[in-house]
Amino acid sequence: MTTPIIGQANPGAGYRELQTEIDAAVARALASGWYILGAEGRAFEAEYAAWLGTERAVGCANGTDALALVLRGLGVGAGTSVVTVSHTAVATVAAIEMAGATPVLVDIEPETYTLNPAELAALLANPPAGLPPIGAIIPVHLYGQACDLDAIIALAAQYGVPVIEDCSQAHGATLHGRKLGTFTEASCFSLYPTKNLGALGDGGVLATNDATLADNIAAIRQYGWRTHYLSDLIGVNSRLDEIQAAILRVKLAHLDRHNARRQQIAAAYDAALAGTGVAAPVRRAGAGHVFHQYVLRVDNRAEVQAQLRALGVATGIHYPVPVHRQLAYEGRIALGPSGCVETERAAGSVMSLPMYPQLTDEQVATISDAVRTVFAR
Ligand SMILES: *Cc1c(COP(=O)(O)O)cnc(C)c1O
Repeated sequence: MTTPIIGQANPGAGYRELQTEIDAAVARALASGWYILGAEGRAFEAEYAAWLGTERAVGCANGTDALALVLRGLGVGAGTSVVTVSHTAVATVAAIEMAGATPVLVDIEPETYTLNPAELAALLANPPAGLPPIGAIIPVHLYGQACDLDAIIALAAQYGVPVIEDCSQAHGATLHGRKLGTFTEASCFSLYPTKNLGALGDGGVLATNDATLADNIAAIRQYGWRTHYLSDLIGVNSRLDEIQAAILRVKLAHLDRHNARRQQIAAAYDAALAGTGVAAPVRRAGAGHVFHQYVLRVDNRAEVQAQLRALGVATGIHYPVPVHRQLAYEGRIALGPSGCVETERAAGSVMSLPMYPQLTDEQVATISDAVRTVFAR
């Protein structure tokens, strides 16, 4: 008998859990006869802003576009540099180039895997000759946990540079009890199916308290129109469709419960790791972690992954190759003052356990047993 493998993510389970509600929402959107930028999209934007605690939210086609739209809205493009990390979804860096700007990638803190403020400070104090002026900073709240936002915001304020939070892995995560995505000029969220809030297709949303910025971005996402057929701004096409918006409204109502379940699963994994010599993920003081991923560091990763798989547990690697080491980027992307040593070390050793709210207690027990067995060796 072959052991069924527990997937590392499972968006299908996310659909099945809420199938009745989601099917009704989809039917409603289909019956409306209006499929792009309509009542469902407006309702989702209002509900998302209310849930997050910002004045405005603007839906768009995906998380990459959300970042690029905010950069465009802030006037950050050609002739400007944007600082982010290399240990992220390649989307963060792709968005900077989509907006026409120049990415600069700084190293991470080894414990939390997020942007190291000391590296940012050194870069801002002494930018390399020839680098276009720094026009924005995009810290990533990776794996569901806040970066050192206090330090980053203080540095950005000192140099007068706007900060855009990449919250694509941190819907509902907090810092000092306040939701991420509410601290800076604007914040961006991917709604890709496996994210903590995921559509059943592509989607993205950005949030801000600046009504003018929100209005401008809402125009830019549709050919720069403020009024139909009249392009006041240079635009693109990046709209959230009504079916996805209707689905997202259903899923948003369950997001807090789903995040609590992720935290419960993380606590079970912590307990399984106790005494094994493999450390549980480090929690930042003051941060509320929503465990988009539960990430361990292991030396003999390929071997550990194979052993876990043999026990029915799939794992993932987020991310195996730093952005600056990938073919499309290697050799042409500026790095921070000390290079990306910790980024490269993390890429060689991180491993993500299965993490999605629909994991059953039985599956969590199977995974916990497998973890104990493999790490006891
Ligand atoms: C998923 C993700 C994105 C981009 O999302 P898409 O919706 O796939 O465009 C951006 N940044 C981070 C950190 C992500 O995890």
